[in-house]
Amino acid sequence: MKMFPNNALLVAVVSLVRTVNVDVSGIHAHYAAAVTAAQGQGQGTGVADRTTRAGARDFGGKRQLKKSKNSSRSKSSKSSKSSKSLTRRPLVGGDKDIPTEADFVIVGGGTAGCVLAARLCSGLPNHKTVLLERGSPRSDDEEFIVNALRKTYDIYEGLLPDDSDLFNYFPTEPNPSLSDLETGAPGRKIGLIEGASIGGSSNVAFQWSYPLNGTVESWGINGLNSEIAHRINKRVEGVIGIEQPPPELRHDYTQDLVDAFLLNNHTLKDKLSPGEGGNTIGVNFIPGDEKGRRRSSYTSYLKPVLAGVCKDSLTVIQDVTATKLFPASDDNKRINGVEYVLTSKPDLTEPYTIKARLETIVSSGMYGSPKLLQLSGIGPANLLQSNGINKILADLPVGQKTQLRPIAVALGYYTGRQLDSVSNRTTLNDKTRKQFLAGKGGPYGKSITATLGKSDTKGYHTGGFGKLGSEGEPYLTLGCFLNPVGFGNFSISDGADPFADPIVHSNMLSDPADFTAAIECVENLQKVMKSFPSDFGMVDTAANIPVANWVSATCTTSWHFVGGCAAGSVVDGHLKVKGGLSNLRVIDSSVIPKLPTSGGVLASTYMLAEFASDILINEYRSVKKQTNKSKSKKGKK
Ligand SMILES: Cc1cc2nc3c(=O)[nH]c(=O)nc-3n(C[C@H](O)[C@H](O)[C@H](O)COP(=O)(O)OP(=O)(O)OC[C@H]3O[C@@H](n4cnc5c(N)ncnc54)[C@H](O)[C@@H]3O)c2cc1C
Repeated sequence: MKMFPNNALLVAVVSLVRTVNVDVSGIHAHYAAAVTAAQGQGQGTGVADRTTRAGARDFGGKRQLKKSKNSSRSKSSKSSKSSKSLTRRPLVGGDKDIPTEADFVIVGGGTAGCVLAARLCSGLPNHKTVLLERGSPRSDDEEFIVNALRKTYDIYEGLLPDDSDLFNYFPTEPNPSLSDLETGAPGRKIGLIEGASIGGSSNVAFQWSYPLNGTVESWGINGLNSEIAHRINKRVEGVIGIEQPPPELRHDYTQDLVDAFLLNNHTLKDKLSPGEGGNTIGVNFIPGDEKGRRRSSYTSYLKPVLAGVCKDSLTVIQDVTATKLFPASDDNKRINGVEYVLTSKPDLTEPYTIKARLETIVSSGMYGSPKLLQLSGIGPANLLQSNGINKILADLPVGQKTQLRPIAVALGYYTGRQLDSVSNRTTLNDKTRKQFLAGKGGPYGKSITATLGKSDTKGYHTGGFGKLGSEGEPYLTLGCFLNPVGFGNFSISDGADPFADPIVHSNMLSDPADFTAAIECVENLQKVMKSFPSDFGMVDTAANIPVANWVSATCTTSWHFVGGCAAGSVVDGHLKVKGGLSNLRVIDSSVIPKLPTSGGVLASTYMLAEFASDILINEYRSVKKQTNKSKSKKGKK
């Protein structure tokens, strides 16, 4: 039995889930078939090129394209990559020697890692900090992709080939609560993405939103409350610049979308309102400048200090993957440092080691941090032993209570108005590229979604307009980012191969409360859709489909994943790893025990890294002061 026999619908769903910043995983194959059929029916040849490309990116295709990167199978393909991979030694910034010791060793130069490295090296200039990042230094083209918001997005959508090293992809395990779009069969997988070069996921994230007041208090982090978080948020905003795109860089029909929400009991907010809930709507904010150029944690925090204030106190090593944390000795619980190998040549090198005199800080991200802990023997003893890890350093519930954010979606198509294909889609030509590089905005600099709003504690929502190819039908896409109550879990796989994908049971929507919330949200968004001016000729694609079926077949994720090294169970209130271990902290999104209420993870991760930097700087400055005092006392005696 086919649940959704309408080919146009399948095409529309794919467009929808892409435009709301989600992955379509299992839908891609149907998408390809649907568009091919549509072409046969004369529904627009303009999609042909894109069909071929996007069709190649069904889940299998996507894995072939990119997956190879992070899997053991990929090692040979990595080796055959461009000149970047020809190195036989770690790529040490500033042409320094490969360091074997430092005061702080930070593993992972992502969102949190770049903030921490920049803050520690400038706040503690007499200490040595080393930052290890698995990605290679970015090429000019990759740098361009990062800065140009829409270009990254077109890669997600499969409109452009992904031959960059910016992302890693891998699938979740089959989820019985999610069904196949065409057949209705349960067990749909979702495609996960993580950032994989310096700047991490901040290179590829789009929306800036804070959680509701009262959220951070529940994370179990000593001294953190909403007031302090807002103060730090302001500091972060000052560094990276959070802007509403100016009118000429906004998504088409932004105002029509805002108006449709206003007709449905929403209040307009035209300022960043950290912590506030309410049924609000506003123009989307982006972590970038007024020209629509993205700012990542690398471009805003790390790059400016590298050659300047931190020239001597910070060393950045790229193209290295940490494989294990090591203790001082077999019977000692002090973590002494990190073993790592070359990412591009994992088979060709003996592991390098670096010793952390003061602290090893794991900032390897949502999947990377729980993975590194488990690989090192820190995790559930049974699970680790079943993966061949017999030396258990600490029996802790690493990865046992995780959350992946569901997005429930609503979709409309319309024929009454035209969408400017240049403004809402990338056009790859020299003129637009030059325009963007000159700081004049242009298609590469357009925001990705038009609006961002809150539905109190239920979640938050976005919307925007897209088009399937330059000639395809235009669609309105609305998405509700839910605050789930259910949890999933995470573990290493493949006998503890550090390059194998992890196993993620997302359990998304398996809690009935989450399923109900998704249905309610879609029903609300459908009302918004009905409020569009009649000249749009808006049609709700799912008007005749039971909402529960629609949700199960189309619900996907925003790639927000937290809880792998949750505060409270894995790390303590000072972000120190529990289980009797010492000199080891985890500082990144993986310590957030539950998805931020009605806010993304990006802003919270920046805030958390800044907060933790303050703690470390104060702690080690005061250690120094005390040492100096006792030295001078001794001197006087
Ligand atoms: C595609 C995508 C879109 C998103 N969109 C949004 C959004 O619009 N709004 C929002 O609020 N949130 C968004 N998020 C979520 C948000 O970006 C992340 O939750 C947040 O950036 C995570 O920060 P982090 O520091 O924990 O990890 P990351 O920023 O991912 O950094 C981890 C770093 O560690 C490195 N690393 C990993 N393992 C190792 C190892 N073994 N050795 C050395 N280095 C290693 C990685 O290469 C990476 O650079 C998105 C996430 C993704 C993936």
